[in-house]
Amino acid sequence: MELPLSYYGDPVLRKKCQPVDEITDEIKKLVEDMVDTMEANNGIGLAAPQVGLEHRIFITYVPLQDEEGEYGTGQLRVFINPEIIEFSEEQTEMNEGCLSIPTVHGEVVRPFRVKVQALNLEGNEFVEEFTGLEAHCVLHENDHINGVLFVDRIRGKERKALDAQLRKVKNDYYSRRKKK
Ligand SMILES: [Zn+2]
Repeated sequence: MELPLSYYGDPVLRKKCQPVDEITDEIKKLVEDMVDTMEANNGIGLAAPQVGLEHRIFITYVPLQDEEGEYGTGQLRVFINPEIIEFSEEQTEMNEGCLSIPTVHGEVVRPFRVKVQALNLEGNEFVEEFTGLEAHCVLHENDHINGVLFVDRIRGKERKALDAQLRKVKNDYYSRRKKK
């Protein structure tokens, strides 16, 4: 079931989310609904606060690059109570967007490689390494569960240039939804 998205301006996007104590049927259903919501909006990742819930959960579905550099189908991944346990000093800049901040894009610098520890839907712990676009996506989603948005990582005049667009998103999406 597709859930309504939270938009820029919504206080839930600024909350430090809470760890999941137990992977109940309710949590499993939420993850299922998050997958539906991400797919319906053509996203490559989604975090629980983006559907209004303060849980430390995010999912990613990043298209993978083959040897020729062509992007193909990705793999759906679920991260519950994730921790970034390592990241490379090497960084890359990529153009990011966010389902909660429609129409806004910007260049964000993040580590090229990260190692993440998390629980999967079965409650089993895993540790996995991600690079490039996948690393960016994991870090973008991990920021969400700490109340951080990609636009916070853009500084100076690049950030200033986004201000008007951000105000517009707040008016057009968040405020409009709230009045309903
Ligand atoms: Zn986002």
